[in-house]
Amino acid sequence: MTSRLPDMARLALLALLALGPAFLVSCSPAPAPAPDAQPTGSAASEQVDCAVARCVALTFDDGPGQYTGRLLDELKAAEAPATFFMVGKNIAKYPDAVKRMAAEGHQLGSHTWDHADLTTLTREQIQHELGWTSEAVEKASGHEPTVFRPPYGNHGAVYDRLVPYPLVLWDVDTLDWKHHDPEKTVRIAMDEVHPGSIILMHDIHESSVKALPDLVEKLKAEGYTPVTVDQLFNGQLENSTAYASAPAPGARK
Ligand SMILES: [Zn+2]
Repeated sequence: MTSRLPDMARLALLALLALGPAFLVSCSPAPAPAPDAQPTGSAASEQVDCAVARCVALTFDDGPGQYTGRLLDELKAAEAPATFFMVGKNIAKYPDAVKRMAAEGHQLGSHTWDHADLTTLTREQIQHELGWTSEAVEKASGHEPTVFRPPYGNHGAVYDRLVPYPLVLWDVDTLDWKHHDPEKTVRIAMDEVHPGSIILMHDIHESSVKALPDLVEKLKAEGYTPVTVDQLFNGQLENSTAYASAPAPGARK
């Protein structure tokens, strides 16, 4: 018996070798997938647990616009992801910027089609404002928006129920649209920021783009990690619910 085993093994091996080519053809695995589709030059932070880390979300409203491309360059250089709340009607003019946002690890958000105050609209108008914007974002980037910011911060329970996204407000208002001063934008943000903050800025103003490098540098120097809104809440956002900031690290369950 012991003497027969090697023979059997040899026979089995010979049979396999004889079958070799056919075996390989029929059982060869599908071509290896392309290397990970992770975009190159992504501004996205490495996996970060915002229940532990000092996270902050940089958010930009009212674009895309003529300065959005420059802002994306600055965000990439600073290795800082952001969240963009876009006005739908602006997208057709700057589709490449929206495509870059998605490719470079930023989060895409809706800010209605034409910056409409939700609380002045009918149910049907709200559905149109959100539907058209979602289509435009998807057409430009291949991704639908995942968060919504109501223009002027105007919302309420009656309206929130009609919004099929989390409503993202803010707790730090840089007032960048008012003073157009990069230094003041940075100063207000640094004075008011705390772990879990959502900082409001506007990418349609050049002064806000100019503020970005200094702002990110100062935030990082104070131990903050810039993240998307989704990361800020560790993906725990619910539709039709409003959020102005995330709980501070250690305060979460
Ligand atoms: Zn706005």
